[in-house]
Amino acid sequence: MIVRRRWTAAATTAILISAALSHPGTATAAPVADTAPITLAAAETALVRVQLRDQAQLDRLVASGVDLANRPRARDGRILADLVLTGAQLADLTAQGATATQVVQRAGDGSRHFADSVRAARARTVAGLGAPAAGQRTSSTAAAVDTLAVQQAYWWTTGGQTFLQAQVATTATDDPDVEITVSWRTADGATGSFPLYRFEDSGEYQYHYNVPQPVPSRPVQLTATSSLGGVSRAVTPTLWPNAAPPPLPAGYQKDFIDAYLTPVDIQARIKRLARQYRDLVDVIDLPNKTQGYRRNAVAYLGDPAAAAVVVESVRFGDQGMNGVQVRTVDPGRPDRPLTVGYRDRVLTVTLATDAAGKTVSTTDDVAAAVNARQANRFRATVEDGSTGLPMPVAGPVRLDDGLQGTEVPAKPWTVQALRLGVHRDGSRVGVLAYSQEHAREWATPLVTLEFAERMLANARTDPATRELLEQVDVFVIPTVNPDGANYSFNDYNFQRKNLVNHCEGPARDPKYRTSWGVDVNRNYTVGSYFDGYVGASANCLSGNYAGTAELSEAESGNVVALAKAHPNIRFAMNVHSYGGYFMWPPGAYRADGRITLPRPSIDESTLFLGSARRIVGAIAQERGTVTWPSQTGPVADVLYSAAGNSADQLYYELGIFAWDFEVGNDRWNAATGEWEGVGFQPPFDEAHGESQEYAGGLVELVRVARDHAAAEAAAG
Ligand SMILES: [Zn+2]
Repeated sequence: MIVRRRWTAAATTAILISAALSHPGTATAAPVADTAPITLAAAETALVRVQLRDQAQLDRLVASGVDLANRPRARDGRILADLVLTGAQLADLTAQGATATQVVQRAGDGSRHFADSVRAARARTVAGLGAPAAGQRTSSTAAAVDTLAVQQAYWWTTGGQTFLQAQVATTATDDPDVEITVSWRTADGATGSFPLYRFEDSGEYQYHYNVPQPVPSRPVQLTATSSLGGVSRAVTPTLWPNAAPPPLPAGYQKDFIDAYLTPVDIQARIKRLARQYRDLVDVIDLPNKTQGYRRNAVAYLGDPAAAAVVVESVRFGDQGMNGVQVRTVDPGRPDRPLTVGYRDRVLTVTLATDAAGKTVSTTDDVAAAVNARQANRFRATVEDGSTGLPMPVAGPVRLDDGLQGTEVPAKPWTVQALRLGVHRDGSRVGVLAYSQEHAREWATPLVTLEFAERMLANARTDPATRELLEQVDVFVIPTVNPDGANYSFNDYNFQRKNLVNHCEGPARDPKYRTSWGVDVNRNYTVGSYFDGYVGASANCLSGNYAGTAELSEAESGNVVALAKAHPNIRFAMNVHSYGGYFMWPPGAYRADGRITLPRPSIDESTLFLGSARRIVGAIAQERGTVTWPSQTGPVADVLYSAAGNSADQLYYELGIFAWDFEVGNDRWNAATGEWEGVGFQPPFDEAHGESQEYAGGLVELVRVARDHAAAEAAAG
């Protein structure tokens, strides 16, 4: 059992932990080997749920900088992880004993689902168990050496299926092999059992748990037993979340989303809402313009497989540098020095020759000469493996920024917020909802825009909604990271970070072009990487690269600026995907000893959990999606440590009750008995469902804010 001790230690050194989670499997999972093996074409990139062979395999992956889309978790002593990888990488892993269990999303799925959604939108416009009662492990006569406490036992019914989830702690915290089994009984006498799995984080035992398990009907009793003989007291599972929002009034308007939305689409939507609801809306231009959908223009001079120099423009490609040519030439005469000249948009490097007229410049000579003599225009780096090699006569090659998007303006972008309310003067309690800090999470702006439009449209027709906008001042930033989003839509759909490339030297090689950028949600100042917290990286190619300094990026600065400029904001929701989580601070801990940021007070924790139950109930109202109790809680407890995230920033620095959604809950597959991940860019029907249910959650957050303000006022 080497799984436990080390996986988060590995995760802290890197890399690319984003917003998803896989889970220990269900007891009823079909063996993977019964189905055809999952493979990808060698060059294809996909998001795949993989069962890794062992911890060493995960360590190698992390060391290689793999895009790990979740916090790996144990399953029968093996590790289940969602990875963004190529077919070649998957084949390597499979050869080393890993097994792919689900292709969550293929690279092409994003653009296909986007195109499908636009087509569908256009068309609309035109048309107007009962697990067997397994023998329960009993301790017979041996004295128990551990004691079990049932920390959570919850049940709910969704889509006609009842689920049970339990979390149990043993006092034998240091014994990695202790096994815990839960036995349940329903009201009509059916019984069954399932195993729990040990969950450790950062080397610390937390508890045993499992993903929700199907049961035939309402469970009325649950007991846990351990392989060491411990037996818990019997408990009655509690209904989760056991909170429901007010029923929707007749004529309540919703469903304002009929396609995925690019940043350009979002900009247009913001403009339209401001025009349509003049009396209820302000548009706020946030202070920091982003870099824009732009990159430096670059080319390989020479053959990267043999000998080459990477030449890059200092300015962005759109600033007159796309198409500039670069070449090396043989002067055709002996004893010539190396020279560099730039004329008529052609950079010419004339190679040095010896007495016999043979060219003698190396790749290093050429790079150094370009950097010395054309520093204002060009940067040159020797390609990996080319150091010291003779520089060939090469080119001309054209520099290019490589960007595929043709409908995106190549200029700095103004990030916008909507402000909704009858009184937009700071006199009412403020709620902030913001989304798409991570570019590839395409469903998230659909959530916040559906929410905004619901509030506005119904304020005209529904007195209860009108009253909410009388009492609450609502701020919405639909896309925090438009540059990354443009790149995700047009170039590389798995892009998570922004588009600012802070890499230097060999890491600027264009072969790393899909790995550049800063993780906006690791760039804040509270509990940051720079403060020694876990879950961000100093590696510019890592998926959770923290940036060059706290708040080095325009995107994170904008969120802070909006919150600071409006001190009436007391509640915030940071919307991410995927996995189905509802979380609040603390969101980070130090590696050594797992010391989290300070825990909220008892009163505040009560508010966080009580509000969460209301909001989870509101989400479930739409299509029955229930966010699991095991995924409702502080970030650091239920997901992972995320150093320098924005919710911690808002809570600890500004005193805002700051939550996070991970929309896109796993879906239950009754045929396989597995929970399946939905991915970052699911088919539009799924994204649409997420937008509807989580918009309902945000409306409930507005009610929470209203009630909190009213209670404070009443208390004087
Ligand atoms: Zn995210």
